[in-house]
Amino acid sequence: MTELTLRPFFWRPTNLFPETRLVSRTHDGIVESSYGEFGERVRSLLAALADRGFGHGNRIGTFGWNHHRHLEAYYAAPLSGAQLHTINVQLGDEDIVYIVDDATDDILFVDPGEPFETIERLWSELDVEQLVVMDETVPETEIDVVAYEDLIAEYDPISEDEMPDIEEEYPAGMCYTSGTTGRPKGVEYTHKMIYAHAMMVMTPAGLDISERDVVMPVVPMFHVNSWEFPYAATMAGATQVYPGPSPSAADLLELVEREGVTMTAGVPTVWIDLLEHVDEHGGDLSSLERIVVGGSAAPEEMMRRYDEEFDVTVEHAWGMTETMSIGSVSRPKARMADWDPSRKYEKRRKQGLLSPGLEMRVVDDAGEEVPWDGESAGELWVRGPTVITAYYNRPQADEEDFERGPASDASGTSEDASSSGKWLKTGDIVSVDEDGYIEVVDRAKDVIKSGGEWISSIALENALMANPDVIESAVIGVPHEKWQERPLATVVTAEDADPAEDELHDHLQETLEQPDWWLPDEIRVLERIPKTATGKFDKQGLREKLDVGDDETED
Ligand code: ADP
Repeated sequence: MTELTLRPFFWRPTNLFPETRLVSRTHDGIVESSYGEFGERVRSLLAALADRGFGHGNRIGTFGWNHHRHLEAYYAAPLSGAQLHTINVQLGDEDIVYIVDDATDDILFVDPGEPFETIERLWSELDVEQLVVMDETVPETEIDVVAYEDLIAEYDPISEDEMPDIEEEYPAGMCYTSGTTGRPKGVEYTHKMIYAHAMMVMTPAGLDISERDVVMPVVPMFHVNSWEFPYAATMAGATQVYPGPSPSAADLLELVEREGVTMTAGVPTVWIDLLEHVDEHGGDLSSLERIVVGGSAAPEEMMRRYDEEFDVTVEHAWGMTETMSIGSVSRPKARMADWDPSRKYEKRRKQGLLSPGLEMRVVDDAGEEVPWDGESAGELWVRGPTVITAYYNRPQADEEDFERGPASDASGTSEDASSSGKWLKTGDIVSVDEDGYIEVVDRAKDVIKSGGEWISSIALENALMANPDVIESAVIGVPHEKWQERPLATVVTAEDADPAEDELHDHLQETLEQPDWWLPDEIRVLERIPKTATGKFDKQGLREKLDVGDDETED
């Protein structure tokens, strides 16, 4: 038996679907190629990396958006034996320097334009041997840099037989958590983990990706392996469309229309923006069958609008950097097929059923498992071959974030036994209904505790976003003398809408099926709500912006 590595993920599309198209929007316009060309170029890049001394033991950082060159690096780095470390291009300078240093990246592949300028500015602070700009030419600069196209043009592709031997336990990928809860933490993925996760994502119980699909991964390639699309969709032999540097709603629409995209994926704010764009300017979404939405809770109103107005199914998924992205997907079970749409939405809007390969438990403050009754809430713990059991370089974090299962407690001290039984404590507070559907009610750090009872910020946000006058909403807890904490809601209103606070308050009272003490004491209208580098609402940033006490504890 061969090892579980990324080799077959490269072999299958390049040999079985060499003519299938790869479309890539770059800073320079759209580039069309095929899996056949991709194969040749990856093998040239493998020759270049080997000749320059990079292989097992090295870390190859990438700092770029979703395009064909980045896809090639996704393959050449791990197939060379080295580790691909994707770095979020939207991070602040301090985090970038910290991450590159912590990961000890040896070589960086960066996008031209802003990402290059950022690295150029920080270059003297980075201990990196080589810089490659993912472009045809190098920009004018004082630092030593090589153009990606020159690099691969210099080398003939190696043959499949010449590809280096790699082992399933080799680290193949790496991604840092985005740091909304303190210093970013490094998460490493081995070949075996990526193999397992990409297979999970490809199956019908995962995201169901097939050769017939035209897939457009909008979730950035610098974010948790773009939810594994670059591996799963490639293995499936799907046509792929990579949307390039900071795509706008108009860019995405153009690609959907031009390429007949059937399936796409990204965080909710992307799809809220696309709806707004189509409302204003029109657009043809008829090719689209599915949008996978995750990263933060998908508002039901948005899911319904895609479904009812455009016949697009929005599939709600949950995951974390620590679970290699997708860990659950919400679809009604077969026996729910006859349910009326509203009842189905009670399932669809939840985060769904745990993905195949994983196990979970939901644990309360006392360490007891809570019943699956759709009401009782506790912290979600997960484990499986695609869930990490330690952070890179962070032994002290491990104690807080992982818990040994009873089996390994009993079995004593063996390293292997203890790590295979370990649960990841996700920090997500969830309830699970009788049918096994997980619902995230909050992140532990966002939970609002009022008079000893918790209030779900996600439930309030969703109820506010169901009001047509509201585009976005983020709710935070603010310190309160009597109740310890009370909810403060912020909203961004639709253009031309100017709802009074009372109206929004009444809307909440009518639609939120919760007691009145859940209602926020204040609803503030903002121009914009700060977002994290991955497009989620940045509640820490929001607290700072509003200058309301921050009881975050840095970890
Ligand atoms: P960060 O922790 O830095 O935001 P991640 O991308 O790893 O980075 O975020 C994982 C977290 O995002 C989860 O723990 C959960 O709180 C949240 N999340 C992911 N998907 C969903 C979803 N569908 N609904 C609600 N929250 C989600």
